This record gives sequence, structure tokens and C-alpha cells, in this order.
Amino acid sequence: MGLADMGFLDNIRRVTPYVPGEQPKGKVIKLNTNECPYPPSPKVRAALQGMDIDLLRKYPDPDAFELTHAIAEYYGLKDSQVFVGVGSDDVLSQCFLAFFAGKRPILFPDITYSFYDVWAQVYDIPYFQIPLKDDFSLNAEAFLRENGGIVIANPNAPTGVAESLETLEEIIKGNTDSVVIVDEAYIDFGGETALPLLQKYENLIITRTMSKSRALAGLRVGYAFGNETLIKCLKDVKFSINSYTMNLPAIIMGKAAIEDDVYFREIRDRVVATRERSKEHLRDMGFSFQDSKANFIFAKRGAGQAEEVFRALRDKDIYVRYFNKPVLRDYLRISIGTDEEMDIFFRELKECL
Ligand code: PMP
Repeated sequence: MGLADMGFLDNIRRVTPYVPGEQPKGKVIKLNTNECPYPPSPKVRAALQGMDIDLLRKYPDPDAFELTHAIAEYYGLKDSQVFVGVGSDDVLSQCFLAFFAGKRPILFPDITYSFYDVWAQVYDIPYFQIPLKDDFSLNAEAFLRENGGIVIANPNAPTGVAESLETLEEIIKGNTDSVVIVDEAYIDFGGETALPLLQKYENLIITRTMSKSRALAGLRVGYAFGNETLIKCLKDVKFSINSYTMNLPAIIMGKAAIEDDVYFREIRDRVVATRERSKEHLRDMGFSFQDSKANFIFAKRGAGQAEEVFRALRDKDIYVRYFNKPVLRDYLRISIGTDEEMDIFFRELKECL
């Protein structure tokens, strides 16, 4: 029987999934998924070691109160303005489900986090992609058209370009009939947060993650800020799918991570310093790039070289990210590692050119 004869296929949801960056085993230099090159806060380790294993017998708190409250306190918000999820991918996916339920197409840039169109497809949300300008900046005016919602990553991925608060405000203010999600996965490394706009605009949702600046990609903790009504809608959707998204270790360790502000600032500042140094190296080696405010640099050196360099580096156990897509295929996205890792990277890169 051929696939065409399988009538049940008509009833199956078939989608083209998002493809995450490789997670190679063994000792490699891994600059391909924007993880933090430094370990999590020592307080995270202590929190795990202090966890009462017997508690794993029971279901965790469905509201993850301890974690939600610690996050709310850190950002000066009410508990009812915070939502937590299994990484910001989970938070964003639930936002798509909760806030993009209309018939009109949602809007996002043509070059951005490549999970947005995947979620739109899996939830049957119509979407329209707004072209970025040639310098990869947002064309804010183009977002002032009929839509069922908007999602913008700031700083953007994979470009690293950050938009001003004025640009974001223009989009949020001009679209009060739809929810605007600002994905701030990389905001800790630069750029201006949209947090001050939260008091002014009821249609704003901001998403964050502990995966990058708090060195906890493996723990899977993300969160969102919004007004109480939007957060309630988000929780209603979550509680309609899975009450216990946040497991006990994630609640305990996530709380410890948000509370260690000194360590957070230390590793963030180190990554930012290495990024700035890496920009100089790349420039000296003939690469061009827009100014990155994230923990990666999206760089190009002439046309038609990137894939070859990506492969040559991988043969040397150095992983960067390559996107084989129009416009992007001339670029390499290089996550910022430790200074030592970047020194090896630049030494080997020179040999690949
Ligand atoms: N948003 C953007 C723009 C990202 O690049 C990523 C990382 N892939 C995420 C969200 C999701 O990160 P996480 O699920 O680890 O929080």
C-alpha cells in the first residue's frame, strides 16, 4: 500500500518542524546555539543539592509560585503579571495559541527566529512576513496594517540587531487591537527592554529566558510579562493543556538563579566584553556585520564562502551556525564563547579563509 492510499493521513497534522542547532557529543568548541560559555550560578548548584528528593513523589506546584514570585520581585512586577514556562519556546508557543486566535494574519519580520512560522503553521495561524530593511533593521511603518497579532525579537535573531524603544512603541501604539509580543531572549546582552512600556500598553507581552544570560539552557525556564488580563489568558491556555509544566528542580534552581544578581551581572559582562573584542577580530579578518547587541555575531565575508567555512570549522570540532536560506546563506552566526574558545576559533578560522 502506498502513502497515497492511506486515508488516515488526511486526518493527521503534518508540519515541517523547527530544526535546532546541533548538540555534538564530546569535546568541541560549541558556538552554534547561543548558550552561555560559563557555568550556572554556584547558588543553583547549592539549591539542587539542598533539594529534598522525597518531594519528587508529589506533583509540583502547578503555579510554580516560588519561581514566579522570585521573578516578579526581581523585575518589580506583581505575581499576576508573570507567567513561567519550559523555556521561552514553551512560553512563546503558548502565547501564539492564546493571543493569535483571530482570522487575520499575524505579522513578523521575514528574517527572524525561525520558530515563529513553525508555530504559526502548527496552530493554523495565518501569517505575513514583513521584509527587514537592507541593514536588517525593522520597517516599523510596514507593521501598521491590519493584523491578528505581532511578534518581534529584540535583539533580533539571527542578526543580533536591536531596535530602539521608540520603534517598538510605534508598533505597539499603532496596533492596540492586537497583542504585540516582544521576544527579549537576548536583551540582557544589550538593547533596551520594553519593560517600561508595560504600564502604558495593555496589548504588550514580553518574553524572556534563563537559557542565555543565566546559563541554564538545560534547565528549560522561560517567562513572560504582561498585564494581569493577558497573563490570566495565558495561564488559562496552559491549564487547558498541562497543569504541571514546571518540574520541581526547575522551580528550585530557577529561583536560585534569578536571586543571584551579582553572578548574573558578572557572566553577562564577560560575554559582552568578549563580544566586543570578537567584533574587532572579525573586522580585521574582512568580515562585515551589523552591530550585535546579543551573545552572537552574524557575520559575512564575501559571497558564497560561508557554507565552506562552516564545514571546515566543523571538521576541526568548532561548531558555528549556518542557515542555508536565501540572504542568510552568506553568513555565519557565531555565538560568543569564553576568551580562550574565541582565541582558538579565530586561529582556526584564519586557516579556513
Ligand atoms: N527566542 C529566540 C529569539 C531564540 O533565539 C531562542 C533560542 N533558540 C528562544 C526564543 C528560545 O530559547 P529557550 O526556549 O531556550 O528559552
